[in-house]
Amino acid sequence: MDKTLHIIGGGMAGSEAAWQAANMGVNVVIHEMRPKVETFAHQTGNLGEMVCSNSFRSDDDEQNAVGLLHWEMRAAAGLIMTTADKHRIPAGGALAVDREPFAESVTAALRSHPNVSVSDEEITELPTDGNWIVATGPLTSTALGKSIQAATGQDHLAFFDAIAPIVYADSIDMSQAWMQSRYDKGETEEERTAYLNCPMTKDQYEAFIDALLAADKTEFHEGETAGYFDGCLPIEVMAERGRETLRHGPMKPVGLTNPHQPEEKAYAVVQLRRDNALGTLFNIVGFQTKMKYGAQTEVFRMIPGLENASFARLGGIHRNTFINSPTLLDSRLRMKSRHNVRFAGQITGVEGYVESAAMGLLAGRFAAAELLGQEIPEVPLETAMGSLVNHITGGADAKTFQPMNVNFGLFQPLEDVRGGRKGRKIRYKGYTDRAKEVWQQWLASQS
Ligand SMILES: Cc1cc2nc3c(=O)[nH]c(=O)nc-3n(C[C@H](O)[C@H](O)[C@H](O)COP(=O)(O)OP(=O)(O)OC[C@H]3O[C@@H](n4cnc5c(N)ncnc54)[C@H](O)[C@@H]3O)c2cc1C
Repeated sequence: MDKTLHIIGGGMAGSEAAWQAANMGVNVVIHEMRPKVETFAHQTGNLGEMVCSNSFRSDDDEQNAVGLLHWEMRAAAGLIMTTADKHRIPAGGALAVDREPFAESVTAALRSHPNVSVSDEEITELPTDGNWIVATGPLTSTALGKSIQAATGQDHLAFFDAIAPIVYADSIDMSQAWMQSRYDKGETEEERTAYLNCPMTKDQYEAFIDALLAADKTEFHEGETAGYFDGCLPIEVMAERGRETLRHGPMKPVGLTNPHQPEEKAYAVVQLRRDNALGTLFNIVGFQTKMKYGAQTEVFRMIPGLENASFARLGGIHRNTFINSPTLLDSRLRMKSRHNVRFAGQITGVEGYVESAAMGLLAGRFAAAELLGQEIPEVPLETAMGSLVNHITGGADAKTFQPMNVNFGLFQPLEDVRGGRKGRKIRYKGYTDRAKEVWQQWLASQS
């Protein structure tokens, strides 16, 4: 049996996967199409190139989920984090790097590794034989994207994300909002109360539309929009088409009764839907948007019940190739239908440099262990890694699956710790302490 691990794509995930597997003693070939074939965002032929911002976001490993992910990756001797530490530049509490030396270092580390070779080529077909990790990212080449789609089914690969903002459940004011599905539809009580509703009066609606129209928006990159407009218009575009459009679309008030004011008919209703099995996150239904982040928080906090909302992630629409991981992948990032092919990085439906590299770290370790005939236990759910991989391969709803970044809403709740905003600091410290201990044990189980 061929013991070589082939990795398609040498970005954040592919580079990390290669590093982990090579350090476990496995021969790795990275197939990277740049610089022969370009993407609209990459500028060089380097491995591990940062396509946009030079920040890996918060480095706070006690109070921030992405900071905890940094910690876990450092503890696993991750290439992306250790290289980031070498090229760190001042950025307050964030981990920002000098981008070119960073990518050059990642490239040099991999190209000089005795177990790694790099093949400059585009892979155009999803492989059937051998051991593979697909880490081709949000800008996966068209030919490979089509081949993945052909192998997985039309509905299981998206070329755009259309992300509605996601709110922490415990930051919603339930003295104004209520749980009810339109027309109380559903067989079970859970289904009949699946949506969280925020009512608006006429004045509130008009002020909201004014704010939407006036808000700062981001522009699309050239060539980014093709085909996306079909099913997911940004809310501000809907509002531009007519002030009443939203009231007849995602904000229609029909089939709902506000138990706080049963006599008064709401003029419009914003609906939120559970975004994870734990019920800690809710997405605002139909509210995909191109508003800038600052504008989003301001505008969405005008919604009654969301005045103090904390956002696990804000909305967006981007060119982004990703698969329906809850349907297609198992908890070891293998295709359920082809165990010799794994996926890693943004294409699995995580979002962000760090999250992408993190999925590369896991895929690299799992693939190498399998080739070496070693057993690796499942990633513990208490860790940032485990919460994220559990979300994309199981916790998220496959029907509405959209890319997700790491956040504490994905974590298993802590017993005996206070909920709500007031208990947040203690809760976050509890999550990060617990995660560090369990992650160390998981790593030790492999040494
Ligand atoms: C325009 C844009 C801006 C972004 N900005 C940020 C940001 O500021 N901060 C952030 O945290 N995240 C950002 N992201 C999201 C995401 O975190 C990054 O794209 C991240 O680089 C994803 O890591 P990855 O390894 O999955 O993919 P990538 O880092 O993109 O790596 C994939 C690699 O696969 C190669 N490839 C693709 N197809 C093939 C093929 N068929 N054969 C061989 N090689 C192939 C590509 O050339 C690329 O090198 C952005 C995404 C985009 C598209």
